[in-house]
Amino acid sequence: MFLVTGIGVAPGIAEGRAFVVRTRRRDVRYLVAADRVRAELSRLTEAQGRARRQLEAIKAKLAGVAEGAASLFEAQLLMIDDAMLVGRATAFVRDERRNAEWALRAAADELVAVIGGAGDPYLRERQGDVRDVVERLVGNLRWESRGIVVPEGPEPWVLVADELAPSTVAQVDWSRAAGFVTEGGSWASHTAILARSLGVPAVVGVARATAAIPPGASVDLDGTTGECLINGDASSRVDWHRRSAAAAPSGHWERPVGGTFNGPVRTLDGVDIRLDANLERPDELAGVLASGATHIGLFRSESLLGPDGRAPDEASQCATYRRILAATPGEVTIRTFDAEPEPGGRHLGLRMLQVDPARHAQFEEQIRALLASASAGRLRILLPFVTDVDDLRFARRAIARAAEALRHAGVEVPTVPVGAMVEVPSAALTADRLAREADFLSVGTNDLAALTLAVGRDDAWAARFYDPLHPSMLRLLRFVARAGLRTHARVSVCGEMAADPRALAVLIGLGLREFSMAPGAQGLARQLASGIALRDARRLAREAFRPDDQTERRLIDAIRDIMETRAAH
Ligand code: PEP
Ligand code: MG
Repeated sequence: MFLVTGIGVAPGIAEGRAFVVRTRRRDVRYLVAADRVRAELSRLTEAQGRARRQLEAIKAKLAGVAEGAASLFEAQLLMIDDAMLVGRATAFVRDERRNAEWALRAAADELVAVIGGAGDPYLRERQGDVRDVVERLVGNLRWESRGIVVPEGPEPWVLVADELAPSTVAQVDWSRAAGFVTEGGSWASHTAILARSLGVPAVVGVARATAAIPPGASVDLDGTTGECLINGDASSRVDWHRRSAAAAPSGHWERPVGGTFNGPVRTLDGVDIRLDANLERPDELAGVLASGATHIGLFRSESLLGPDGRAPDEASQCATYRRILAATPGEVTIRTFDAEPEPGGRHLGLRMLQVDPARHAQFEEQIRALLASASAGRLRILLPFVTDVDDLRFARRAIARAAEALRHAGVEVPTVPVGAMVEVPSAALTADRLAREADFLSVGTNDLAALTLAVGRDDAWAARFYDPLHPSMLRLLRFVARAGLRTHARVSVCGEMAADPRALAVLIGLGLREFSMAPGAQGLARQLASGIALRDARRLAREAFRPDDQTERRLIDAIRDIMETRAAH
């Protein structure tokens, strides 16, 4: 029994058995239920059959062309049927109920140790072949196409992974898994955002989690405190759950699981606060609307892109946008594709459109699809990673040209407001100019904090330096809020910062009134916004500016005082 602690990024308690995944190595480990062992054995045999056929095809292709290479694959074919590999793996599945991937890797580790210890250089060379064969076998267990397949079990699983890509989290069947723990990640990573929007409790940044937590171990996870109890016995589990309940955000506040959007939110002294919903993927829309949301403050349209970065064709994009617009009673703010550059690639932000013809063509196609869908509802177009007014002007010209061409072709195109994300420090520092030319601004605090503080938003190692309440951020946010007030431009905040009640109070105190966040964060945000008076929020904003390193502590205490005084009345 032991505890591991990381960063709680999606609230809620999850209990289950560890399902260990090393995504970088395509390595999945869990204990197969007793009545699933036969099915697991056939999965292994089928993979062996497919791998054998592939190797025979490779051998046949090389025969007569490269005889030496062909014989290499002859050796691999022998390994496929070696009793020490698949035979041994079969025993691991049958006798120890390990899943097929785990069994294969364990058998390979043994085999590699034996041939590595043989002292024979020729045999040592064969270690690489063993690995090659095992990768082929594991690949044939169908990892790639279906992502992480969580098997049915008598108990739920808790995923324990080195890292989980957002697309992987989106694919997992969360009716079978109760939550996840990862080694990488941070509060503002897309994976964490997705976990909050799916309502899946999650803890990230647990160093060496996949090594420390054994497959099949019992895991109790608290997505608020970031604490996980591993293999707890009955009495320590009871204690742990009691402590966890006591540590729920700020005393009597409810846990923000799947909060609803019932009607307008007003501060105690009557200031309207708008809370919109961020939408990650189109298939979440029905749930978001069912919880009462009126406006979609941010739809991250890049969720439509394929793994290769390709967009659906114009007509199917248009159909998707129409569907979202027609179903939503209020405004729908659709952000144009905010695709990350290739690893190691350049990130020029929206300026990329000016230098990369492929990106530009993709942007134009999306703009046409958006404009052609606009008559179906109340569309707003939001541009990501704007650096300055030149960017905005460039994009606006392209939008105006597309609208003109569509109208010319007889398509009805209403006027669509065009807004700029403020998520790059250069945009925040020129927000006064942007506010004069954009129809609205939307502050992306996730990237703004990362770029201002030079801390990668996915960087678990440096997560403690990622502080959206850092004085530099407060100054930038105050500047942006004032720019909005002076120019009468609407300014909203769609980054995750608003989902943290301390930060939300400060943002209200700085003059911001519109927010958009993951649906799961609404409950707590509503409680905060409707339980605070503007003068309290302003006081908290002043507190936040006070130069010492206890800011966070003071804010937590101050908010708790305010809320508890209210509750007492
Ligand atoms: C942000 O950067 O704050 C934001 C809302 O955009 P994303 O999280 O999609 O980068
Ligand atoms: Mg961003």
